[in-house]
Amino acid sequence: MKLPPFGYHRAESLGEAVAVLAEHGPDARVLGGGQSLLPVMALRMSNPAVLIDITTAKDLQGHAFRDADGLVVSAAVTTRAVETDAETRRRHPLVAECLAQVGHPEIRNRGTVCGSLAHADPAAELPALLLALGGSVRVAGAERRRRIAAADFFAGPYLTALEEGEVVAGAELPLLARTAGWSIREITRRSGDFALVGVISILDADADGRCTDARLALFGIAGTPRRATAAENVLKGQLLDDAVLAEAAEHAFDDIDVLGDLHGSVTYRRRAGTRLVVRSLAEARARCQSEVESARA
Ligand SMILES: Cc1cc2nc3c(=O)[nH]c(=O)nc-3n(C[C@H](O)[C@H](O)[C@H](O)COP(=O)(O)OP(=O)(O)OC[C@H]3O[C@@H](n4cnc5c(N)ncnc54)[C@H](O)[C@@H]3O)c2cc1C
Repeated sequence: MKLPPFGYHRAESLGEAVAVLAEHGPDARVLGGGQSLLPVMALRMSNPAVLIDITTAKDLQGHAFRDADGLVVSAAVTTRAVETDAETRRRHPLVAECLAQVGHPEIRNRGTVCGSLAHADPAAELPALLLALGGSVRVAGAERRRRIAAADFFAGPYLTALEEGEVVAGAELPLLARTAGWSIREITRRSGDFALVGVISILDADADGRCTDARLALFGIAGTPRRATAAENVLKGQLLDDAVLAEAAEHAFDDIDVLGDLHGSVTYRRRAGTRLVVRSLAEARARCQSEVESARA
């Protein structure tokens, strides 16, 4: 389908994007890579009068590692640019691996990390990643700039805590502890599809193998990505043997109203998801054990 008519404004800076957004109010939308917004417009599910293209804004380019905030990705940076960055692959391999699971290379060449966060698709990898890492988004509006923690940012399917007139300026993806192990696993119908159910696991342990940190973020199962806190509590303080991992997985969906749809029923998502969590935890444990070994050596 063809796109409906719309006005187009190319913003040269974040300040200009915010000003144009304030001028047009809810009739305007920020345009990132357009990989979600343009199909939605073509399907007539959204009909903004003006698109504000931020992809060439000078102060929204680039990504860098910062001591306090971890990997900071500005709003115009594409998924592929971060995924293929050698320093990211070395210092934050979970991020690189997660980005590689987003759609197809063509999508990642245009789609932005911050656009995916702002879009807040409940089956998308990046919102779950931000939640698992305890990251934040940097937000700019006409009156103020603020930081919103991932736990407060995702408000529902395709719904965020962004207020009218606010632009996502960047994302902060904290680094993992040196001994932490990680895993991202998902079930999709075809390679590159959105997840029917997905999990990101992060485990850390002391020299005796006792779990000091456990984080699990589930996606594709509810209106927003969710931390599996009951499962995390089963793991913390325990020796990470197979029985503990299996018990944690049994609690992964506690307190979560899993949603079913024509792609997968509630029962399917819970059952397949539980097995996926076991595999993901085992992978994170293996990486953690190897890091603990090398830290001891
Ligand atoms: C065939 C296909 C397969 C895909 N598969 C996956 C997948 O498996 N996993 C996955 O996660 N994604 C997938 N996607 C979506 C893709 O990752 C998108 O690129 C991403 O969701 C949106 O990023 P974008 O930069 O293209 O945003 P856009 O499409 O430009 O914008 C999306 C929404 O976010 C808003 N927005 C964008 N940037 C900002 C900002 N800086 N501040 C405020 N609001 C902003 C827009 O106004 C719009 O509402 C797929 C897309 C396609 C077409």
